Amino acid sequence: MKGWLTIAGLGPGAAELITPQVSAALAQASDLVGYLPYLNRVPPRAGQQRHASDNREELARARQALQLAAAGRQVVVVSSGDPGVFAMAAAVCEALENGPASWGEIDVRVLPGITAMLAASARAGAPLGHDFCAINLSDNLKPWALIERRLRLAAEADFAIALYNPRSKARPQGFARALAILRTACGDERPVLFARAVFTPEERLEVVTLGQARPDMADMRTLVIVGSSLTRLVPRPAGALLYTPRSAYPAGGV
Ligand code: SAH
Repeated sequence: MKGWLTIAGLGPGAAELITPQVSAALAQASDLVGYLPYLNRVPPRAGQQRHASDNREELARARQALQLAAAGRQVVVVSSGDPGVFAMAAAVCEALENGPASWGEIDVRVLPGITAMLAASARAGAPLGHDFCAINLSDNLKPWALIERRLRLAAEADFAIALYNPRSKARPQGFARALAILRTACGDERPVLFARAVFTPEERLEVVTLGQARPDMADMRTLVIVGSSLTRLVPRPAGALLYTPRSAYPAGGV
């Protein structure tokens, strides 16, 4: 049988948020490759092999998956959320670009999933209803100076800002510095959403102001959205809504 490689997004956590297309690929695979907590989200299937790896070994994992596909296996690499957002799809592209010419024949497909910022946004209301950007706060793959510059420029451009990988034990100071930069650029009143483990049983949502935001409100399972100057919290008895209006024209304008 001819081998293939599919890079699939499992969404934020809930099984109902896995697309039917991804479920079909998982059902057809002979081999699953990925970070163990993500593999554990896929129900076991008789005869299917699992190759678990550490979270930091993305390129090695991509090469392993390509080798399996080149040897005729039907391989699905699993990512959380969307595989193209700070995840395995780019690692596989990188491995292909630098790999042997024979890998050029492998059928490679990327299947989208619901990325964390969209899941978090949906739970809170519509904080990404106007222009926004996403920044990964991990400095594993880029210098901290570049992160700081992007935070400053995103604030200057008045984007709502989704922050992935806000905080880890390996770099506890980074998120505190990010909050300080945003406070200087945006002031203390901006609403900030801390969305932890959305669409899982451990989900926790909290909206505070930038002035109230503390580094320990986030961990590696948290997605943070810092509002633009227009983002607002609308209180309702049935639960507040955080949203950014569709229009940046002054009220009463177009
Ligand atoms: N490919 C993934 C992102 C991988 S980076 C995606 O598209 O969602 C990992 C980061 O994503 C985490 O540190 C966290 O910031 C965010 N994240 C992933 N799943 C999440 C969830 N269920 N709730 C909140 N944040 C999540």
